[in-house]
Amino acid sequence: MKKKILVIEGDGIGKEVVPQAVKVLKKVAEKFGHEFEFDNALMGHCAIEATGEPLPEETIEKGRKFDAILFGAVGDPKYDNDPTLKVRPEQGLLKIRKTFELFANVRPIKLYDELLGASSLKPEVLSGSDIVFFRELVGGIYFGERARDDNKAHDTMEYSVSEVERIARKAFEAAMLRRKKVTSVDKANVLDCSRLWRETVTKVAEEYPEVELNHMYVDNAAMQLIKDPTQFDVVVTGNMFGDILTDEASQIAGSMGMLASASMGNEIALYEPIHGSAPDIAGQGIANPLAAILSAQMMLTLSFGMKDEADAIDNAVAQVLKDGYRGPDIKDAATPEELVVGTDAMGDLVVERV
Ligand code: NAD
Repeated sequence: MKKKILVIEGDGIGKEVVPQAVKVLKKVAEKFGHEFEFDNALMGHCAIEATGEPLPEETIEKGRKFDAILFGAVGDPKYDNDPTLKVRPEQGLLKIRKTFELFANVRPIKLYDELLGASSLKPEVLSGSDIVFFRELVGGIYFGERARDDNKAHDTMEYSVSEVERIARKAFEAAMLRRKKVTSVDKANVLDCSRLWRETVTKVAEEYPEVELNHMYVDNAAMQLIKDPTQFDVVVTGNMFGDILTDEASQIAGSMGMLASASMGNEIALYEPIHGSAPDIAGQGIANPLAAILSAQMMLTLSFGMKDEADAIDNAVAQVLKDGYRGPDIKDAATPEELVVGTDAMGDLVVERV
């Protein structure tokens, strides 16, 4: 099969982890007789430096011609330290999501048994956790009307019935292929937006009578996630709640460096690790590339329908962990020093096992 993949490394560790995922995809193409064509494009701080825009038109134009997008992360301390800067790397990410209407962000929280000791949570609490988040990605407070003057500011959260319906359907469809349970997370005791969300999800649930639906307030969900993560199967929630809860849930998997995601619309999809540009470790060659590699694995499954190829990556990652290799972010007290590897070496280990 011939496929065109647009690669947007972005900033910080995006430039380190994405090449590892590309390396693995090239190995998969070689092994399974596919032809993957890669091209690069800019987004984020690097794009602002080069063109003045966080998402140059050229990147959008290229995106329209490709079968899928593999993305790293955007962000730079320059902007984090000066919130008054008007042109910002994250605007590129929000704009690409909106341009391609990537409304469903799918984030599997997959726990490898080998990493039970890497989490700050107790192994007996974590064991058996297997959750998929469906985060609404192009609506809610990150996209609502906003304004500020010297002593006041506001951001607006808005959701329409159709926006909630389409993400809810994705979640129920996924639940049908899993353990048939959906938890919808909102703040319906306070927010009107959440009341509309809850009513709409409840209506959509009628189309999926086999799926059990429960509703949970976001504050409770934040607590339940670390108290008893095994109670969750599919979680569906809005943009901001999903952003926060999935970072929290990354601790179930041991590290931000382990979690992949797919941002899907009706046409092209974008695959990215859930982490940011991690300026605290960027340039040191120690970022964990497995989240980026597992994002490429999601691309093979969801965009290209290549199940065996995706399994090859999945099994290779599992085997690397079984063989005892760890990045600095997922090592524990029992990890021998010689098995602690950097970004490039971790990529090579996965390639060898594919
Ligand atoms: P972050 O995800 O970049 O980092 C949070 C922590 O997790 C850091 O300690 C980092 O070292 C660690 N970490 C993240 N990915 C890792 C990996 N692959 N391997 C090992 N450790 C890893 O979040 P942050 O520090 O809040 O934000 C840094 C910058 O990234 C900011 O500019 C922010 O705006 C941006 N950001 C971008 C995205 C995105 O592009 N999707 C997402 C979140 C944050």
